[in-house]
Amino acid sequence: MTVANQKGGVGKTTSTVNLAAALAMHGIRVLVIDLDPQGNASTALGVEHRTGTPSVYELMLGEIPLEEAAVTSTASPNLLCVPATIDLAGAEIELVSMVARESRLSQALADEHLDKLDVDYVLIDCPPSLGLLTVNALVAASEVLIPIQCEYYALEGLGQLLSNIDLVRSHLNTALHVSTILLTMYDGRTKLADQVTSEVRQHFGPTALRTVIPRSVKVSEAPGYSQTVLEYDPGSRGAMSYVDAAREIAEHGASGAYRAGGR
Ligand code: ADP
Ligand code: MG
Repeated sequence: MTVANQKGGVGKTTSTVNLAAALAMHGIRVLVIDLDPQGNASTALGVEHRTGTPSVYELMLGEIPLEEAAVTSTASPNLLCVPATIDLAGAEIELVSMVARESRLSQALADEHLDKLDVDYVLIDCPPSLGLLTVNALVAASEVLIPIQCEYYALEGLGQLLSNIDLVRSHLNTALHVSTILLTMYDGRTKLADQVTSEVRQHFGPTALRTVIPRSVKVSEAPGYSQTVLEYDPGSRGAMSYVDAAREIAEHGASGAYRAGGR
């Protein structure tokens, strides 16, 4: 599942790591691919990502296999992460001239490698752009999860993301579909949040999860301690909402509703 939205600060990374932690807490084995040179997902999962660390960069160049790039997170023994170092910042340009530039990540995540790690779910955290890194993430996945922030301009740019997804589906990955919309940073005190929520539900129907992630200080504090909010404050509303959202995702997966044409 690729977590994408070319807007920055909408909750891609926060949702990736906390959904992954919630799934792992229930005994599901999850692999997080940090595909943002900032390495925020690596930080939140307590995984080293200094320059020189074997990372998603070497993985995409084909220099190391997945088994060597994946590290167990401090968050859970069921949670693995392929970190991103700042080296990835150059990849967007370096990839342009490479063979099979759009499917580098997909090849690295071939079933034979995933089987060795024995993972049930792979979550890919995208950078805030629609460049080659995000395209690689869209080619590697069957599902897209789009986090949408309950704020002004939330839906702006969404059309561009959706048409890119359509393009990737028709040319590179027929299995790709938007399976999940997650509303984030919901502030119940504002009318605006309700307006965005109802607009999104009108547009996306049941693809939008029933669970909405509230704006919560605990959620934003957790990465400062290299933790997910599930470790930092498991009883907080933020943590519980991510557990609920993960349950919805797992139920969808189990029901097969979103698996049409998937792996
Ligand atoms: P993205 O990966 O899309 O750029 P992030 O997940 O990094 O977005 O979130 C952007 C900022 O908002 C971060 O500082 C994060 O801690 C904060 N944030 C995300 N979700 C919440 C939330 N539910 N409540 C409060 N702050 C949040
Ligand atoms: Mg991010």
